Amino acid sequence: MSAITMRELTKVYPGGVRALDALDLEIADGEFFALLGPSGCGKTTLLRTIAGLEVASAGSVRIGGRDVTNLPPGKRDVAMVFQDYALFPHMTVRDNIAYPLRIKKVDRRSRGSKAADTADELGLSGLLERRPGQLSGGQQQRVALARAMACHPQVFLLDEPLSNLDARLRLEARTFLKRLQRELGVTTVFVTHDQAEALALADRIAVMEGGRIRQVGTPTEVFRRPANTFVAGFIGSTPMNLIDARVHGDELAVAGARLPLPDGAPGQVSDGERLVYGIRPEYLDYSPTAVPGALTGEVVVVENLGSVSLVSLDVPGDHAGASDEAGAGDDSGAGRTSVQVVVPEGGEPEPGDTGW
Ligand code: ADP
Ligand code: MG
Repeated sequence: MSAITMRELTKVYPGGVRALDALDLEIADGEFFALLGPSGCGKTTLLRTIAGLEVASAGSVRIGGRDVTNLPPGKRDVAMVFQDYALFPHMTVRDNIAYPLRIKKVDRRSRGSKAADTADELGLSGLLERRPGQLSGGQQQRVALARAMACHPQVFLLDEPLSNLDARLRLEARTFLKRLQRELGVTTVFVTHDQAEALALADRIAVMEGGRIRQVGTPTEVFRRPANTFVAGFIGSTPMNLIDARVHGDELAVAGARLPLPDGAPGQVSDGERLVYGIRPEYLDYSPTAVPGALTGEVVVVENLGSVSLVSLDVPGDHAGASDEAGAGDDSGAGRTSVQVVVPEGGEPEPGDTGW
């Protein structure tokens, strides 16, 4: 068993930065778990604290039921792959992979054969005598993975392992990583700032902001039912539209339009209540001719995304912003807000057009 449990985990760096703020999180045995969030939100700190490379200021970490909060990294049975791979430049691929076995005092012969076996599994057999400088980025990444795998740890910790690869190689490595994790079944915590990567790879995702977890769920849950406007704005290939709205009986008044209340909302909201209406650009339709009751506005920008275009319209109403805590703005409704719509090929308007 190698579930990971964090309780009120806090890390305050010297100088006072609170990188982890009483964070609670449970990662199940065998899970491929993504930590997702903007730069500086504490992802690397959380990974390093699980690994024992940072000492927690308060709270606890358990791995497989064992309290490891005060154990050194070598006693935690975890392996970490760093963002820059951290390979030893003067060592061959074979010696790099075998290095953790040497630290564990495994004898030279079995070290060599274990390194060769792991290299074989990762398609590195032909490269054992090379040095990191003689490898491509993708190959270096595999060596870093092989080095982590050689000891058969209970837990893999991967810090943005794909971020140094170019776009095409990145997709290839992503598929490879997913297959490898399936085959090994090892509990894996994967850090990324790329929401598409997290959605594609993970069994579950934790979305972080400012040293805290804002939501934990499956890719479908965080995409379809974001728990707050931060998650809503962070997940998705285009940010969700967030517009100030007011409940009117069984309808929602949104920037001059009247919409039916979304599923699940009736009974949970009261007449006159102000709330934030969130809808993804993919789920809105664009019409060049008037549609009664629909949002209407002026087309400001049209961005070609390949098979579809992203159209930004300027509509009357207040932008709800990305903060839960901010006030809902004044009551005048005199502001302007930008609403984005995904429009299929052939139906794109021109800037300056009016659309519904
Ligand atoms: P992420 O990996 O999500 O980008 P980090 O965990 O690296 O975020 O950093 C979280 C916060 O802690 C940031 O504000 C960062 O500047 C700060 N931080 C990280 N490492 C240190 C350190 N060694 N000393 C002081 N502050 C640090
Ligand atoms: Mg980081």
